[in-house]
Amino acid sequence: MSLSLYVKRDKQYPGGLRFALHIPFEKWGDAPPKAKAPFATNPGMSVVTVDLGVNRLAVMGAFRDDKLLATQFIHGGELNHKRHLLLNAIYKKRGQSGRLQKDVPDNVDLWNKVRNIDENAARQVARQIVKFAIDHGAKVVVFEYLRGYRPPKERMSRSGRKNHKRAYWLRGKIVTWVRDVAFREGILTVERNPAYTSQMCPHCHMPGERTGHHFTCQNPVHSYHADADFVGMMNLYRKWNGTFVYPRKKRADEPNPAQVTA
Ligand SMILES: [Zn+2]
Repeated sequence: MSLSLYVKRDKQYPGGLRFALHIPFEKWGDAPPKAKAPFATNPGMSVVTVDLGVNRLAVMGAFRDDKLLATQFIHGGELNHKRHLLLNAIYKKRGQSGRLQKDVPDNVDLWNKVRNIDENAARQVARQIVKFAIDHGAKVVVFEYLRGYRPPKERMSRSGRKNHKRAYWLRGKIVTWVRDVAFREGILTVERNPAYTSQMCPHCHMPGERTGHHFTCQNPVHSYHADADFVGMMNLYRKWNGTFVYPRKKRADEPNPAQVTA
């Protein structure tokens, strides 16, 4: 979004031209109650929650009356691989050409390709999310609130880091597109705090453990395994309907689980 000036021919205006200044702004605060309002009169309305990730671009779930009706996964492995190859080529060329010149864009064609595949992916994923919402009669799409980018802790090549960053940035792009396309379909887009959504079991509310793409509930009598992004999507629904249970605060005298198993 940027400040933009539009000019249109219009005879009713002096000089035959009409100017319009478009000032983008973001609105905060009162969206959640507004999104909830239609549910008070129509509790049977459905909701779609979406967990956005890297290897899975999106995991969607449609809910009605607190029941999961359908899920859909959109995979992003291929996109990440393609982008990584392009970034590798850019960094290799940079290495060969030595120092970058200030204010002179480098590898213009390759960068354009990177931008195009990301832009294209963002639009396609957004369209699929909105279609999923329409197909299930949802009037609200719930995303996690995207926090600022944090670089990965593990060692990565420069192109790997850049790829990681662009994959993160793509999630914001997807949300922006969904908000835009969904709005035209009369569907609201809201965001919820993602704290603990990947750490708690959505069924028994006990903490679980995430290893890669896998979630394992730590409750010994539950033994629940699931896809970690699926769990994120389920918990996002719990955040929406207010049934998410945060981990209880540790008592000062409680032993650290790491010490117990050591
Ligand atoms: Zn559990």
